[in-house]
Amino acid sequence: MKALIVVDMLNDFVTGSLKCDRAQRIIPHIRKLIDSFHKHKLPVIFANDSHLDTDFEMHRWGAHAIEGTEGAEVIPELTPQDDDIIVGKHVYSSFFETPLDSILRSRNVKEVILTGLHTHLCVRHTAADAFFRGYKIIVPEDGVDSFTVEDHESGLAYLKEYYGATLSDASTILKKLPK
Ligand code: ZN
Repeated sequence: MKALIVVDMLNDFVTGSLKCDRAQRIIPHIRKLIDSFHKHKLPVIFANDSHLDTDFEMHRWGAHAIEGTEGAEVIPELTPQDDDIIVGKHVYSSFFETPLDSILRSRNVKEVILTGLHTHLCVRHTAADAFFRGYKIIVPEDGVDSFTVEDHESGLAYLKEYYGATLSDASTILKKLPK
């Protein structure tokens, strides 16, 4: 079983306090993946920063994606449906001290498709924890991005080299879903 994981596609990361212009590029590709996963009744999981203002990360990045604020909501283009799963996180990794691993295991998920922001940061740390837990990792190059092309490309190279991630693109992933 495959699951689609959408990391930090939140107002603060796309248009807000940690705005990333390059995020615009990936929105339509993630949208297509979400729609197709819905159609195939495969799990769609949003892993969202949901910070307290006392979280350790605030010292590094300042206030962002504070739980309950508009900045912490998924961008309107990708608004989750009722059946989607939302996991709130407090650090870069979507697994760290969240129920994500048990959510995946209870659905017999073996393969995770990682999308969202940032290739070299939260996606990378999520991939690390997925790798440590034995998941196969697929990353669409047009479904993840970073503040800069350098961070994006070095992030992809790291995912491939150290976590054995398969680099792909959204349309290839869609073609491989069961008919
Ligand atoms: Zn954060």
